[in-house]
Amino acid sequence: MDSSTGADCLFCKIRDGEIPARKVREDDRVFAFEDINPQAPAHVLVVPRRHFATLDELPALGAEGEGIVGRLAAVAAAIAAERGFAGDGWRLVFNVNPGAGQSVFHVHAHLLGGRPFGWPPG
Ligand code: AMP
Ligand code: ZN
Repeated sequence: MDSSTGADCLFCKIRDGEIPARKVREDDRVFAFEDINPQAPAHVLVVPRRHFATLDELPALGAEGEGIVGRLAAVAAAIAAERGFAGDGWRLVFNVNPGAGQSVFHVHAHLLGGRPFGWPPG
């Protein structure tokens, strides 16, 4: 199993059920839950069970890391389809490091849907 725990990590605690969250999906590699401060009508966080802090670590994780992030995207697409966004318009965002708005240092993808999205993002 590829779970590990970051010291005092909020998303590890949600993964382990120590902090409550509205979970929408869970499998052996990733879990997903509703964002507590939604930025769109649908805002779901899709998170690897394995703790790693930022996407900067991904190249060092090799094929295993690539598999995990592929799974993240697949789960996000399945949730988007389930909610009727497929073919319409939805967004998947990784904020990487504080300069890009990352505030929780356990990698996660934001699935946003249910409204139009501008480009470039802010
Ligand atoms: P980021 O700023 O990209 O690191 O995203 C962290 C996200 O976690 C933000 O969108 C927060 O609203 C969300 N968040 C923080 N604490 C919780 C929590 N306890 N349950 C659900 N979402 C949370
Ligand atoms: Zn963690």
